[in-house]
Amino acid sequence: MLLNLREYHRPAAEGREPQAALADALALLARPGIRTVVLAGGDTLLASADPTIEAVVDLQGLGLDQLTFESERGLLHIGALVTRATLAAAEEATPLHRLLAQAARRWGGSVQRNRATVGGAAVVAADNDPLPAALLVCDAEILLAGRDGPRAVPYARFIDQRAALLAAPAIVTGLRIATDRATTYALETVARTPSDAPIVLAAAALAVHAGRCTRARLALGGVAPAPLRMPSVEAALEGRAPTAAAIADAAAQVAAQIAPAGDFRGSGEYRREMAVVLARRALSQGRS
Ligand SMILES: Cc1cc2nc3c(=O)[nH]c(=O)nc-3n(C[C@H](O)[C@H](O)[C@H](O)COP(=O)(O)OP(=O)(O)OC[C@H]3O[C@@H](n4cnc5c(N)ncnc54)[C@H](O)[C@@H]3O)c2cc1C
Repeated sequence: MLLNLREYHRPAAEGREPQAALADALALLARPGIRTVVLAGGDTLLASADPTIEAVVDLQGLGLDQLTFESERGLLHIGALVTRATLAAAEEATPLHRLLAQAARRWGGSVQRNRATVGGAAVVAADNDPLPAALLVCDAEILLAGRDGPRAVPYARFIDQRAALLAAPAIVTGLRIATDRATTYALETVARTPSDAPIVLAAAALAVHAGRCTRARLALGGVAPAPLRMPSVEAALEGRAPTAAAIADAAAQVAAQIAPAGDFRGSGEYRREMAVVLARRALSQGRS
């Protein structure tokens, strides 16, 4: 609970230009002297009990809850306020939809999935949440609205720079992902029980043309404070035939590139070993 909350704002787009409501939200966030933050599903924010937060701007009225797929262009647009439940239930039109649905499903119970948003998950970028890792391997772009207008930022860069990008202030309005039917995606996780949070996870995307890997993506979770992309593993596969040996060699590189901390779910050594195993399994699924 936010014990020092003094103001609740819900700018609404109904009957107005959507941009006007967005501008209201940005103006509220930019006010000096009163710490104002964005409220999406509230799943993380309300649990944070942050005593410095004095005002929230609820995004629910901004019409950011649309999930659309332009099949001809292979372009998926996920509004920031689309819930995990909506993404998990999305019509499974493409391998990309299936990956995102699988990743969105891995979160608590239905109450939490109905509340927590995709934009919230992208901003929080929890290390063992499969959704941010899936967004990384899809080359998702984050759509930001700021007082200087809209801009798109690669999700990998957003994760690294999100504090500065959002402080401007800016609001995540959605995510944009381009896909094609030639790319296969996979998500591998290990957890204490099927319903427990993953300890370690690997998401992969692989495109193969004429026997050669034309695009490889690998992201790991549970091995660092935020999900990590593995560019050197990707580079080791691109341009090569994705044989079992090539994938095993590339996945083995993971071990030297991570230094996971341990916790009650698994030691650092266990996480490192599992990261290699899950990376190999996820990348192998793209070979067929
Ligand atoms: C396996 C797993 C592990 C997880 N581990 C964690 C964890 O360790 N810690 C954790 O906090 N959550 C964790 N989560 C939960 C998840 O990352 C978030 O709770 C949830 O997705 C946040 O969504 P929300 O809509 O409720 O965001 P909110 O709680 O409303 O907001 C979260 C934060 O993001 C900001 N924000 C949200 N939306 C926007 C936007 N559109 N534009 C700008 N800023 C925005 C808010 O200001 C706030 O700072 C985990 C999830 C899974 C599946």
